[in-house]
Amino acid sequence: MKQKMLLLSFLLFGFSLKSQTYTVHSVPYDNLKDKYDFVSNPDRIISPAAEEQINRIITLTEDSASAEIAVVLLKSIGDAGIDDFGTALFTHWGIGKKQKDNGLLFLLVEDQRQMIFRTGYGLEGALPDVVLSRIIRNDIAPLMAEGNPDRALISGISRVCQCLLNPEVVREILAEQKHAGGNDEKAVFPKLLKVYTVISLLVFLYFALTFSLKLKMGKTRPEKYNRLNAARSSVIACTVLFPLLMVFFIPVYFFKLRNLRNRPVNCRGCNRPMIKQTESSRDAYLTAQQVEEEKLHSVDYDVWRCTACNRNEIYGYDRPHTRYTTCPYCRARTYLLESDRIVKHATSYSKGRGEKVYRCLYCQKRNIVPYLIPMIIASPGTGGRRSGGFGGGSFGGGFGGGRTGGGGARGGW
Ligand SMILES: [Zn+2]
Ligand SMILES: [Zn+2]
Repeated sequence: MKQKMLLLSFLLFGFSLKSQTYTVHSVPYDNLKDKYDFVSNPDRIISPAAEEQINRIITLTEDSASAEIAVVLLKSIGDAGIDDFGTALFTHWGIGKKQKDNGLLFLLVEDQRQMIFRTGYGLEGALPDVVLSRIIRNDIAPLMAEGNPDRALISGISRVCQCLLNPEVVREILAEQKHAGGNDEKAVFPKLLKVYTVISLLVFLYFALTFSLKLKMGKTRPEKYNRLNAARSSVIACTVLFPLLMVFFIPVYFFKLRNLRNRPVNCRGCNRPMIKQTESSRDAYLTAQQVEEEKLHSVDYDVWRCTACNRNEIYGYDRPHTRYTTCPYCRARTYLLESDRIVKHATSYSKGRGEKVYRCLYCQKRNIVPYLIPMIIASPGTGGRRSGGFGGGSFGGGFGGGRTGGGGARGGW
């Protein structure tokens, strides 16, 4: 009977060892209560000899450097995220001395092939995140990938301890980091340049194609001009942003615009070139409507005149940036939005009403256009999820800190 019970409990124990999925509360920490045991290794991910060596390294470090270190190696934490798990464990155990928050947690989860460092506030200066992630990437992950967790952990933890004992090591790692970063930048730069060149080419092609298309689509001279001129600001903006090829396009563009305005027109009567009137003399040939449009700078008029047969040719060029639109009554480009007012405000249960008042400065017609304002849809509160602050936990082995800002690093193998 006694034997059976023993066997059963042994089996259960063995089974539970095999299938254990840890929660923050079930991670064994009894062994950590021992003053010289800093490693929780319930699944025997590293050998007892390696565990012993890591304990020695940490003991030496804790004696001389102000830090409290815990190393936790687990087979599985189920679906839990290693980042949250690490932060919660750090807080739950309260790693670090109370006033100093000088705790450091290393957590490795084998089935996720992930590991993280968590540092208390007091260690973030001595162990910057970049340094920790470099240690994961260079010292631990390659050896884990080779299937040598003993060496991976010993080399990683001793590297961390070196950093804690000697700030010079941190500086060295940071310098390496910068150097590596430099290399990364060098690799990224040609890529960016390529992308930029491709975009520049596309922008150029777009303008080159639409340029000829616009010229073809415009039948009369003002039509061609207006179509080209409407793109003026985007042509300029794209030349500033992607000058690579646009510098070749922009002179052609402005030459064509000027040419459309100034190239002599041949008289329809005698086929002789007509003469463009100066600004001061041209108003005499314009209608009152055209003069008004000129005055409001909504349309620019060119008057071509044949002195031989007294014939006039008048071309109107729309100015792209004007407040005036074409009046629906007299067709003059002197139609203006005079006011836009809310008659009735919209609420969450009824629509509102507004009124736009247009006026033509040439024919003086006023036009009141009522419009509806949609109901206000009450948006659900956007209270973002904020993780609560962690209170200092307490830990049997003399830990009294446990406040971490989530500092640390993460990596996989
Ligand atoms: Zn003529
Ligand atoms: Zn009008």
